[in-house]
Amino acid sequence: MSWQECSDQQRIATILRQSIKNDRVAHAYLFAGGRGVGKRRVAMQLGKSLLCLRQDGDSCDQCHHCLRINSGNHPDFHLVEPDGASIKIDQIRGLQKEFSLRAVESKRKVYILDHADKMTVQAANSLLKFLEEPGSEVTAILLTENPHQMLPTILSRCQVMHFAELPFEKRVGLLKSEGLYEPLVRNACQITADLGQARELCQAEWFAQFRNQVLQLNEDVLEKGSHALVGLQEKIVKNDQGTQGISNLLDLYIYWLRDILFFHMDRKQDILNLDQLEAMGRQALRCSKTWLLRAIQIVMGTKDRLARHANPQLTLERMIIELQEV
Ligand SMILES: [Zn+2]
Repeated sequence: MSWQECSDQQRIATILRQSIKNDRVAHAYLFAGGRGVGKRRVAMQLGKSLLCLRQDGDSCDQCHHCLRINSGNHPDFHLVEPDGASIKIDQIRGLQKEFSLRAVESKRKVYILDHADKMTVQAANSLLKFLEEPGSEVTAILLTENPHQMLPTILSRCQVMHFAELPFEKRVGLLKSEGLYEPLVRNACQITADLGQARELCQAEWFAQFRNQVLQLNEDVLEKGSHALVGLQEKIVKNDQGTQGISNLLDLYIYWLRDILFFHMDRKQDILNLDQLEAMGRQALRCSKTWLLRAIQIVMGTKDRLARHANPQLTLERMIIELQEV
């Protein structure tokens, strides 16, 4: 692995590579960004490039430093992860003890602290002393999804690097390669840019059910009868996913309406529910573009009202009535 494989975080990769070349590496970094954006990959690459014999800013993947890091047993390169729910003081002490010995293989030492926001207060205070030790050739790389939960005293000692979210198609590709169902993946990645959250949605049974239900819901709305209200009552309000679940349902509904709009406009590449083209085509015959645009507005308005803590059931009923009156 080399910096080239960190191309989805090119801006950060370039900065780090340059700082190694110019011998201006910080004592401590904090990599902040959502799950799946490549923090750990970049941290590994930074560590490897620092220890690699080549010393030109990149790693060679051939020298004994690179090989030992790849196989996970370099004495001057450590990865610390939460032990259970948190990173504990003993883990930080262990690290300090390890590093108080002279560097075995090289003059530099590197450690990565994954989920650094999960440090206990004692662990964080212990780390703080470690970070303040002057004159050492130690590079700390802290990783977090929640920089706001880090102690300000630690934040202020780190060079903070914010990792950009991955683009939509990239996230879809990653989750698809894990065997998740593409239409669900496309909807989930539209709801959230966080890869971990999107994965959880794709794996939740209720999410798959909601996606099927919005299709039926729109069918009922178009029928203009009372089915829509009854269906909503029975399936959706009783499905106890709380306000967040209803908000996700409304997202799915908006995407379904938008899919029909794309179908009208012959923009198939933008459609999320690729497995429902037939139903989409049938509904497209009964929804004009004007109706769809108005309907999307109504559903978005409903989402807003729910976010402002309106009564979910009344708000959804109002939405149905508004939709049927368009
Ligand atoms: Zn090397």
